[in-house]
This record gives sequence, C-alpha cells and structure tokens, in this order.
Amino acid sequence: MAGNGMVVIFDFDFTIIDYDSDDWVVEKMGVTDLFDELKSNPTISWYSMMDRMVIELNSQGKTMEEIAGCLKQVPLHPHLISAIKTAHAFGCDLRIISDANTFFIETILENHGLLECFNEINTNPWFIDQEGRIRTSVLKEGKKRFIYVGDGKNDFCPSLRLHESDLLLPRRGFALWDIICNNAVAIKAKIYDWSNCEELGNNLLDAIDSISVGTNNQDTSNTSMLIPVDCKFQTGSLASHESAGKALRIQN
Ligand SMILES: [Mg+2]
Repeated sequence: MAGNGMVVIFDFDFTIIDYDSDDWVVEKMGVTDLFDELKSNPTISWYSMMDRMVIELNSQGKTMEEIAGCLKQVPLHPHLISAIKTAHAFGCDLRIISDANTFFIETILENHGLLECFNEINTNPWFIDQEGRIRTSVLKEGKKRFIYVGDGKNDFCPSLRLHESDLLLPRRGFALWDIICNNAVAIKAKIYDWSNCEELGNNLLDAIDSISVGTNNQDTSNTSMLIPVDCKFQTGSLASHESAGKALRIQN
C-alpha cells in the first residue's frame, strides 16, 4: 500500500470492541466457573489460562465453529466501523497490538468486514513484557505520524513513546486515562480523549484530519477537540469511573 505516512495503532478489548473478548467467550460458552477457578491460581499466566479454556471447551465438545459463532455476536459501533474503513481508504496503516487472542480478534473483525483494513494484528505475547506492558519497537519507525488508541494500563508505555507530532486517543475513565492524569507531563503527544465507541469513531477521523491538514496549524484548526495534556484538574471527576475496573486487568 502506498500509504499516507500515518500509522494508527489500536488496542482491541474495550477499544475497538466495548468488551473483553476473553470474558465474552467465557460467559457466552458457559465456562465461567472453570475460568474463575483458573484465575484463582496466581501462578498461571493469562495466556496459559486461555489455552486451558480453549482445551476445556474442545473437551466439552465445543467446536471452533461454535466459538466463532459466539464471537460473531460481538457488536461494533457503526460509527467506528465507518471510521476504520475511512481511515483505511485514506491510506492509513492500521495495526492492532493486543493481548487478546488472535483468533478472537480476526473472527470479530472479519464478521464486521474490517479484517482486510488492518495491515498487522500483533498478539504475540513476546510483545508484552513481564509487567504487562506492550513493547514499543513498533513506534520506532521514523518519518511517520502515529495515532495510538487504547484504554488499558499496558497502553501507557507506548503512549510515552509518542512524539509531539503524534496523537494519543485514550478512553476516559479507564486505566490509561487515570495514569495519564497522574503523569501528564510524561505525555508529549496531543490527546483526543473519548468515552464510547461512537465518540472514538468521530475522534479518529478528526485526529487523521488534524494530522493531514499540516504540521504546524493543528492546534488552531481543532482547538475544540484538543484537551490540555495537563488533565489533573479533571482527576476528581474520574473517581466516578473507577468502577470500570475491568480495564485494569493485568496479565502476568
Ligand atoms: Mg484494552
């Protein structure tokens, strides 16, 4: 693809979909008890646990087609579907870096006609370091502009690698937002926050617009969309969002 020099990197759970894909499968397939039992073992890694879950589902006679059928019930917001297709048509290099299961991600994206929009889906556990943070070698591609979209604690590390010319789209009220509010000076990228997938769809297109307009006048053309990096003043209001604890899941 010729491309337009923009790379958009998405997290998946609670970002492209408004759910945790692992939890979705576990609940829909009726294996919550086993899942909870495995989770109570502090020595088992998330990846090993999900491997065990798939083995257990197979041993119960559940086929991959049934699991796929369950995944095809995951909804995506039409605004976000449209925005992703538009970004792809515009020449953006779309990628996913996630700790979710590759089969889960691909099945969901394919069901919504989005799979071909993504150049890379990286769920390699080696991309996640021992503290659950995504390694950021992908961000070291010079001469490109990055837009990073995420919600979780492990999205903070790549956010730190963004430059002033890049954009960060964190989900308000989730773990990444909380961390940013307490480490505002660490973030160099401009921030377009969002709270739901409809708003994400709109902000993604605005973010692409602001980059494509030029390198020096983004602030004046999109002032209403930008928030100050110093968002500590809003920290108080975040307390009401702390119940969004699922996003705080750390896989070790
Ligand atoms: Mg996430």
